[in-house]
Amino acid sequence: MDTSSEALTQPHQILIVSEDACQKVIGRHEAFQAVESVFSSMAKGSAYNFPVVREAIGHANALYGFKSGFDREGLVLGVKAGGYWPGNVVQGRTNHQSIVALFDPDTGQLKALVSGNYLTAIRTAASSAVSIAHLARKNAKVLGMIGAGFQSTFQLHAALEQRDFEKVVAWNTHPEHLTRLADVCREHNLPFEAVSLQALGSQSDVIITITSASEPLLQAAWVKPGTHLACMGTDTKGKQEIDHRILAQATVFTDEIDQSISIGEAQHAVTARILSAEQITPIGEVINGLHQGRQSEQEITLFDGTGVGLQDLAVASAAASLAEVRGLAQRVTL
Ligand code: NAD
Repeated sequence: MDTSSEALTQPHQILIVSEDACQKVIGRHEAFQAVESVFSSMAKGSAYNFPVVREAIGHANALYGFKSGFDREGLVLGVKAGGYWPGNVVQGRTNHQSIVALFDPDTGQLKALVSGNYLTAIRTAASSAVSIAHLARKNAKVLGMIGAGFQSTFQLHAALEQRDFEKVVAWNTHPEHLTRLADVCREHNLPFEAVSLQALGSQSDVIITITSASEPLLQAAWVKPGTHLACMGTDTKGKQEIDHRILAQATVFTDEIDQSISIGEAQHAVTARILSAEQITPIGEVINGLHQGRQSEQEITLFDGTGVGLQDLAVASAAASLAEVRGLAQRVTL
């Protein structure tokens, strides 16, 4: 073995996978498969997330941080760095900005840099879609959308593939933004109606929340029996989208319990002592057949989707492999 200093510092090649390449190779189907599979691995203990760093940087009202993890079975190691810059959209950029760095788990060498903006949206939509596929009533007909920001159309597209929805109702703090959801419904030939939060709760069989709210929008009394809620917006301490009493009425599932009780929607119910970590089930257990999931037509199920690093790594790894095969990744020597 050549251990001369020259050999030890020899350059190696990495892949650069652009935003455009990610959009070409990862569709909803690929994202759903990657996310469902990594949730399953997490529940088996063969993939684990490292503690999240997420901080308000005191500039541009931004939240910045790192999500990382290791999938021992899939041999995917990496980190997503980035965050949320709420002022971006008025300048024509998306509020979420991120990049995924993938490392060789055998050597620690950087393997790929994968643009993370589109992937974040598609993996977050896949996460709620996985929850709907496994937990919503089969006969769910009305989908309620709370939020109409950048993520919302990804969420809506992915949800519509999971059940035979016959109508979409929606609410947003700025109602004028609801047109983007109405446009998606038109594409799917589905009736769309802008409604109050109370009307949304009383009609919907499945509700997706995807806002940056920091106070409860949906009240417990407005949610009807048998509803499935996918709470996707709360991913930071202090954020909240729904009345925390809903979590005491519901059977609660999550991507990861540690995140659910600290940065997810469950943080408030746990603080109020109406829910404990032991009462929350990782959705991977349902995927793996260890938990039955929904047990009755009347049961309210709730998925607290906090967004884990392994989701990002799973879709980024798939994007890097597919982009390489299709000649869409650039090779750069470090
Ligand atoms: P966006 O900035 O494009 O849209 C924000 C949405 O929240 C809009 O509908 C806006 O009207 C609404 N909103 C903002 N403040 C509100 C308030 N005080 N009350 C009620 N509604 C309010 O953001 P986005 O990209 O659509 O993301 C939405 C949220 O989802 C963000 O908070 C983001 O951090 C979160 N998110 C979570 C995950 C996850 O994995 N769980 C992944 C990505 C984004």
